[in-house]
Amino acid sequence: MLRMKNLYAPTLKEDPADADIASHKLLLRAGMLRKTASGVYTFLPLGYRVLKKIENIVREEMDATGAYEILMPALQPSELWLESGRWDDYGPELMRLNDRHDRGFCLGPTHEELITALVRDELRSYKQLPLTLYQIQVKFRDEIRPRFGLLRSREFIMKDAYSFHDGQESLQETYDQMSDAYARICERCALDWRAVEADSGQIGGKVTTEFMALADSGEAELVYCDCGYSANTEAGECIPHPTTYEETELKKIETPDVHTIEELAEFLSIPESSTVKALSGKDADGNVSVLFIPGDHELNEIKACRVMEGFQLLTDEEMTSLGLHKGSMGPVNLPDGMRIIADSSLKGIPQWVVGANEDGFHFVGAAPGRDFQVDAWADLCVVKPQDACPECGCSLKGARGIEVSQVFQLGTKYSESMGATFLDKDGKERPFYMGCYGVGVSRTLAAIVEQHNDENGIKWPLAVAPAHVCVIPLQVGDDLVQPKAEEIADACAQLGFEVAIDDRDERAGVKFADADLIGWPLQIIVGKRGLAEGKVEVKRRLTGERSEFMIDALPELLAFANRKMRNMNKGGVTIFSGMFS
Ligand code: ATP
Ligand code: MG
Repeated sequence: MLRMKNLYAPTLKEDPADADIASHKLLLRAGMLRKTASGVYTFLPLGYRVLKKIENIVREEMDATGAYEILMPALQPSELWLESGRWDDYGPELMRLNDRHDRGFCLGPTHEELITALVRDELRSYKQLPLTLYQIQVKFRDEIRPRFGLLRSREFIMKDAYSFHDGQESLQETYDQMSDAYARICERCALDWRAVEADSGQIGGKVTTEFMALADSGEAELVYCDCGYSANTEAGECIPHPTTYEETELKKIETPDVHTIEELAEFLSIPESSTVKALSGKDADGNVSVLFIPGDHELNEIKACRVMEGFQLLTDEEMTSLGLHKGSMGPVNLPDGMRIIADSSLKGIPQWVVGANEDGFHFVGAAPGRDFQVDAWADLCVVKPQDACPECGCSLKGARGIEVSQVFQLGTKYSESMGATFLDKDGKERPFYMGCYGVGVSRTLAAIVEQHNDENGIKWPLAVAPAHVCVIPLQVGDDLVQPKAEEIADACAQLGFEVAIDDRDERAGVKFADADLIGWPLQIIVGKRGLAEGKVEVKRRLTGERSEFMIDALPELLAFANRKMRNMNKGGVTIFSGMFS
């Protein structure tokens, strides 16, 4: 039983000054979390209880897939990272340090290198495959902007799993199984979530899905469609709707003081989608191209990298030295040797409204094929709401999300670079196919709070609540109230509920406020006045509803609630809904 008197859960009346979003403020105010340094936190008893519950949900779902739990060190030798090539690629986010012998180490931001090295000498035969290992462990990333409390911290808890296969088919099978497990984890944590197409970023590989908890405070932008399609805007295919500007002649027009698409559209009184935006960039070899996209869209640099390896936007100085005019670049009269790459959607636009490569001038009626040649067409834009769904053509909707987890098919990226092979049926040496799968456990905790709170505090879903019931005696030390409260708390505990008792000698108002702030799903309030009539009060945090019950009826009600809780836990639905109804 949790006794509030000596439980270390110092609650705060006011929002801490540097807490930026609901989950951050509430976890601090409810005495669950304390900041140690920027992006580094201590979990206090109540916060740690919730964290362990989430860990256990994750653990159960991983075990159910047949994966085995291990624990790797956070401290990783640099040699392994040099082998994979990521010692150089990872950049300043990797926390590096030297030991007393001046040997290089890092604090693991992820564990592909370590696990590949772990299995490469001893997992040798196709007969041992497939194999999935996972751990729940602390990770370190020196984030450029640690913020939003547990959502983007520098030290955090992750569940990371890695799978090894003899080929793509087996990898796909485990990947699908893991995706299902991730969906169940989101459900059991009572998240409102979506699985979205994603970009594989640092990790590499081709196929990946992110699991997003929907929240306005989320850093990720998503698009989705009623047909079931959804994508991170970083990764989603983009089908914009550029509009034609009726002008068939190539005409140079004076556009004084027009530097941006917004100004150009306003100057010509046309929508931004009728203009063409130009951006210049260079590839890894220094070859320069100018990229053209519909004026109402943004360039997706990840997609630009697909058509120009190592793509980088030119700086203002580079543009000037190459004779390019920022704010009026266009495809007609470009300096020699520059390629023209255009968004595929512009194929349907016979005349472009676009810069004239001369300050203060633009062209209208610039026709591809007639006035200039496009060297390559490609998908280049960041997808946004109202673009066409790539699967059904309907208008996409937009939302924001918190990436709580992600699954990846890595293929042979690490096994090849690190020489991790097995012997196939024919005794031939082949690299493993690998998958990796990460759940942000501490980020999930914050995401749950983002979705389950009100102006009074947190509303924990049952499956992750620090305890299910809090018994609140209003007159501590009273001969009747105190023993009765203890008795009820014991009865609850015996039924299998996790119970807290607010045995602090505090005013009723303080206890009620703290109970709501901490967010126990159920409060049982025991007071002198009620007891005189043989009654206690029960409050459900989810709905705020308070009702009186005869004490004699309590055991039966609790037994009923308990049966419901057990069923709910099995089925994964986790909120005390209709508990006493
Ligand atoms: P992000 O794009 O948000 O930086 P990521 O894609 O780099 O995250 P992964 O490498 O996919 O992260 O790590 C797996 C999971 O670990 C993420 O889905 C997320 O839940 C969690 N995670 C990653 N970075 C952080 C962080 N700085 N703080 C808390 N959790 C994190
Ligand atoms: Mg990710």
